[in-house]
Amino acid sequence: MSVHIWYLVDLSASSAEADSAVHRLQEWLVTTGWVGAERESDWVEGLCLTPGPRALERGLAKETSNLTLIHDRDGYSMGENFAPPSCPACGETLDEDILFDAYSDWAATDWTLGTQPSVSCDACGEEKPVVDFADEHSRVAHGNLAIALYAWDHEELFAAVEENFPGHWRTIYSHT
Ligand SMILES: [Zn+2]
Repeated sequence: MSVHIWYLVDLSASSAEADSAVHRLQEWLVTTGWVGAERESDWVEGLCLTPGPRALERGLAKETSNLTLIHDRDGYSMGENFAPPSCPACGETLDEDILFDAYSDWAATDWTLGTQPSVSCDACGEEKPVVDFADEHSRVAHGNLAIALYAWDHEELFAAVEENFPGHWRTIYSHT
């Protein structure tokens, strides 16, 4: 079965910061009407929540939609949608292994932004931290905190989260 999930991953929260952020996030999501009660889910590990009145009334989610708060160190990728990145400076397409090697090195650390490796372009020499080098078709992320949406129009909710919880968030659309 094919599964489509939108993730909003916090790239910068340490494990300790994620501990307190996840509670504030849940409280805010409930207070603002984005989510309702907790429920069982078998598609993503985490705290699964039903859509709240705000999401349902605006037609952004259905009764069967899920929002899951993932409070655990994990890696996220685009799955079948992945395509090799192009250099942000010269547009040259990079060998995807360059990016995967950098992500593997990063995954071996504590995954915070300060530990991310750089990637450089063979054609023009442009060098950038790996999360900035990856374009919208080549995103991969590591994080201690993430929101996953299943069958839910993500844009309005993700924008509201980013506005109310400033940080280094990254959106990833995964198709597996
Ligand atoms: Zn380049």
